[in-house]
Amino acid sequence: MTVDPVVSALLAALGERAVLTAPEDRARFETGWRYGKGIARCVVRPASTDEVATALRICGEHGVRVVPQGANTGLVAASTPDASGAMVVLSLERLNRTIALDRAGRTVLVDGGVLLSQLNEALAKDGYWFPVDLGADPQIGGMVATNTGGTRLLKYGDVRHNLLGVEVVLGDGRVLTQLNTLRKNNTGLDPKHLFTGTTGVFGVVTRAVLQVAPLPKQRAVALVGCVDGPTVLKLLSAVEHELGDVLSAFEVMSKNALRAVFAHQPNLRQPFAELPRYATLVELSSTLPAEALALEAVLEARLGAFLETAGDAVVDVLVGKGEEFWSMRHHISESLRSEGKMLAFDISVPRSELPAFTNEVEALLAAEWPLVQLCDYGHWGDGGTHLNLVWNEAAIGKPAAEVIAALQPRIYELACVRYQGSYSAEHGVGPHNQRYYDRYTDPLVKQLCAVLGGFCDPAGRLGTVRLS
Ligand SMILES: Cc1cc2nc3c(=O)[nH]c(=O)nc-3n(C[C@H](O)[C@H](O)[C@H](O)COP(=O)(O)OP(=O)(O)OC[C@H]3O[C@@H](n4cnc5c(N)ncnc54)[C@H](O)[C@@H]3O)c2cc1C
Repeated sequence: MTVDPVVSALLAALGERAVLTAPEDRARFETGWRYGKGIARCVVRPASTDEVATALRICGEHGVRVVPQGANTGLVAASTPDASGAMVVLSLERLNRTIALDRAGRTVLVDGGVLLSQLNEALAKDGYWFPVDLGADPQIGGMVATNTGGTRLLKYGDVRHNLLGVEVVLGDGRVLTQLNTLRKNNTGLDPKHLFTGTTGVFGVVTRAVLQVAPLPKQRAVALVGCVDGPTVLKLLSAVEHELGDVLSAFEVMSKNALRAVFAHQPNLRQPFAELPRYATLVELSSTLPAEALALEAVLEARLGAFLETAGDAVVDVLVGKGEEFWSMRHHISESLRSEGKMLAFDISVPRSELPAFTNEVEALLAAEWPLVQLCDYGHWGDGGTHLNLVWNEAAIGKPAAEVIAALQPRIYELACVRYQGSYSAEHGVGPHNQRYYDRYTDPLVKQLCAVLGGFCDPAGRLGTVRLS
């Protein structure tokens, strides 16, 4: 049997626990959540920053490409190896011990491999949380690399907004330690931004300093049925003006998206007499206790006033049952998959353009692909829409590959060119959308990435995407 020199060197330096070679052990690291399936030469699982540096040096000496991997919940195929069998997956799952809260500073130092759920469980004991909130359980390093957004971005911002410092191992094993804990520090270039949202191509995030938030003591949630997109935007302006201090989420679910939820989730009940074009989930939260602020009553009163002024444009206002309403929101994606083939888009456009953009997509589908259903939903509060196109396979069969190949670029062109939006609002860049990165990224930005990449990863061996 031939011995793989990289695997031997990694085993000698890091030991058997750190290196997985058997196909059954590698399997879970080789398949992405939604896209991406390949073969890893081996999986290396360092348990410290020094071990990450050692692993990268060894891979560098053997000219081997490395894919950093967090919890593998990414949705653009960026965390899994290609089919060549030549790439090493570097998983951070064993680098997960440090969670050090500074209460007075309201910051936490955390290892890159710590899961979001693990961090929040530890923080909750002291009444804090890391408020970048989503339906998956990623690692902190993966969240930095993808600049995760989530459902409460409107109030708390994304990872970049809450990141104070990082420690990163560069492509050739050098360690850049910038574990800044200061909120004010205007002393030139802030290197953490190089590693935020750049999908691991400039370095492996081994530790981070995050700003944390006090846990809310209460939440109030409502569903507002609106007849069209402009009414949703009016509602957004109204709640921002009147309830902005306590507004923590503003999520929109279209009629088609909700219809799929109620078809496939027998535990969830359709709460409207008739499904509206859009059901808007409005959430308020506060660190004040209910005795100090009757949050649900505030929400009810304000939405009642909106209902009166909006007239027929608002179908119904339902206050309470927050868990049930969030459950509808969190079950959309899997319910749509149960309907048939889904082509998913993670788009953002300027907030004010969401209705016009969505209408244009609808018109395009009606004219050219009338059997495809638009099942949109998403974070309208920050201009994000998960614009999913669904083929009900039982009724119309699977879409031909040419249909998808023709449709996808049309939607992206509409979003990125006509509406000056983004083809990847929060999921980042990966092999799944590399060609749209190539098409829509300013050539000067690509040149800048080439220069930065030359410094951070001189041999260009990190990651699965090309930013230059
Ligand atoms: C059900 C579901 C809901 C989701 N909802 C949202 C949402 O609301 N908002 C949102 O923004 N995203 C969402 N996502 C996408 C995903 O969860 C995020 O992109 C997440 O931050 C990825 O983290 P991860 O640890 O799983 O990284 P992975 O998937 O393992 O990796 C993602 C990228 O980061 C790189 N990487 C991972 N760890 C490191 C590291 N330590 N150092 C350097 N590079 C690294 C990888 O190479 C890859 O390029 C959702 C995903 C699912 C499955």
